[in-house]
Amino acid sequence: MIFSDREKAIWRPPVFIPTKEWGEKNRELSALTSASAGRWSMDMIPFFIAVLDALDDEDVEIVVLQKSTQIAGTETFLTWMGKVADQDPGPAMMCFSDEDTTNEVVDRRLDPLFKNSITLAKLIDKAKFTKKSITLLNNFSLTPAWASSISKTASRPIRYLYLSEITKPGYGKVGDEGSVLTRIFQRTETFPNKKIAIETTPTIEGDNIDKQMGLCDVIFDHHVPCPKCGVHQILRFRPVKYRNSAGVEVMSGCVVWESKPEILDEKQRMRAEAETARYKCGDCGELWTTGQKNAAVSRGKSFPRTSFPGKPKRVGFHISRLYSLFPGGRLDALVLSFLQAKNDPEELQSFVNNSLAEHWKPYKITSDIEELKKAKCGIQAGIVPDIADAIIVTVDMQQTYFWYLVRAWSSRLKDSWLIECGQVADWEDIDELFFEKTWKKADGKEFGCWRGALDIGGTKEEGKDVSRTEEAESWWIQNRRRAKRKIFLCKGSSRSMPTKISIGKILETTPSGKKIAHGGLQIIELNTPVLKDLFFHAIDRAAENASGAAYLNDQIPDSYFRHITAEAKDNDGNYVKIGKDNHLLDCEMQQFGMISRELFGGIDRLLLHHQVSEQRQNQSSSGGEMPNQQEDSGQKNPYLDSGGSDENPYIQR
Ligand SMILES: [Zn+2]
Repeated sequence: MIFSDREKAIWRPPVFIPTKEWGEKNRELSALTSASAGRWSMDMIPFFIAVLDALDDEDVEIVVLQKSTQIAGTETFLTWMGKVADQDPGPAMMCFSDEDTTNEVVDRRLDPLFKNSITLAKLIDKAKFTKKSITLLNNFSLTPAWASSISKTASRPIRYLYLSEITKPGYGKVGDEGSVLTRIFQRTETFPNKKIAIETTPTIEGDNIDKQMGLCDVIFDHHVPCPKCGVHQILRFRPVKYRNSAGVEVMSGCVVWESKPEILDEKQRMRAEAETARYKCGDCGELWTTGQKNAAVSRGKSFPRTSFPGKPKRVGFHISRLYSLFPGGRLDALVLSFLQAKNDPEELQSFVNNSLAEHWKPYKITSDIEELKKAKCGIQAGIVPDIADAIIVTVDMQQTYFWYLVRAWSSRLKDSWLIECGQVADWEDIDELFFEKTWKKADGKEFGCWRGALDIGGTKEEGKDVSRTEEAESWWIQNRRRAKRKIFLCKGSSRSMPTKISIGKILETTPSGKKIAHGGLQIIELNTPVLKDLFFHAIDRAAENASGAAYLNDQIPDSYFRHITAEAKDNDGNYVKIGKDNHLLDCEMQQFGMISRELFGGIDRLLLHHQVSEQRQNQSSSGGEMPNQQEDSGQKNPYLDSGGSDENPYIQR
């Protein structure tokens, strides 16, 4: 009897070859989806060889990969899926983060995986090769899915399960009896030779990938040899303790760079600092270039973090972008991303998660007054530090009086110092704070308020009502000439906002319907939780004496500490009130709204002002000036001004 190639392909008994070898023989990558088009190779992803070996190991049931974004993880798992489809068919499911991603992977990656591989292409039955499921002539079947669709897919058993981004809401929480993750794992239980592959970028501590890694019998890191001393070691951005391949606890190396404080322009400074980036060997201290780092990664090996008696069933891997041989893994690119993100908790979290593949520790809200006091820096109340160049006054309006808070800011460092805080009684005091009062440096130089915020929001239970809002709006209208683009009426947002602040629509009438002349009034909406995060982040930075710090002075009244510790975060990360008064915390939160770039360029406008006045100084040798008002300085910068309109280029819609 003579069989056709097609029949041979279907009836051929399975021959085991490692996934790596199968991929190198059978996969073609297209230039559309891959940085390295052509024949699939692991040259650019040597650290994933151990991941594929674990998937090939018959004792291993679950392989968990905690990884950065954009390091070709998905292509690696697709290769594995292609290999089992060809060599050891069974029912499979691949689950991606959401519907759009799933459709994209099906079109751009799954489709070519089967059609461009000679062995798999022979097995395609056109009628059974659709977007919703793929069934091959050898009985391999694959269902693409996404987190929120898994529960809808038929509950047929699955032998090969691939899950990506299991931190997405659709998966539910680990340990939650009815969670999607628990139920989908149950569907693999009928197969003694099942295989589960999980690939996810971490989010906050305790998320699903954190828990799955925690359940692993053993976790592997890729150890790379130093070009100078030859010692194998893990790669980390910041130094950490770990066990080396001999089981001895040692410190890792880290990424280092030179600081260049002499460069005043922030963007130029960050770029110049990033260019000096090197990797410092954890053993001999040798500084490696990106090229040397990449060569070391290519010569690396996987080592387990701990020893495990017997054969591990669950195996974890951790791979950050530091290992990447693609441009994103360049040391200068990583340092630049870090410098751009470091003063903003949200951006920093994104860097830590997506680039370093590490979990983010949520800021603890300091309810301990002794902890808060670590942010003191030895300055006296009322004195403006030498390096400060702006004063911001923020006010929280009560029914019959006001809480206020004054901070001095350095536009270059984004450091700030609490100058004074307390209560004032009436609108005349408010006039004085915003428009008349000055604060002095040790050399006698005086500063008035550069920007101010007046919180008119709040609820009735706090004693703020509509008539009080009306009063505040009338006050602003009366003072519009000196308040415009300088004093902002604000309110905390009750909706979730994509930005730190948002400039409201132009109001043409007050709450009672009174007409607002001369172009109306705009209320600034504040993203309260994010701005509070920024404040607490800056307080942490002060305790560490790092840049972006919010310092306290040495004569802080007790009321300040009571207000700051009046809120805590619940388990979902939301701020909840635990004390009576939180008004000074609101004032601190508003300070961070006032420096935000989304508010007419924020405090970065002052940097521009300094450059302009330095140029003037160089040209005419006239004395430098200290900016009290940024408004009428006449400079135009395309990043700060959008053609003179109030439309703000930084707000993403
Ligand atoms: Zn070394």
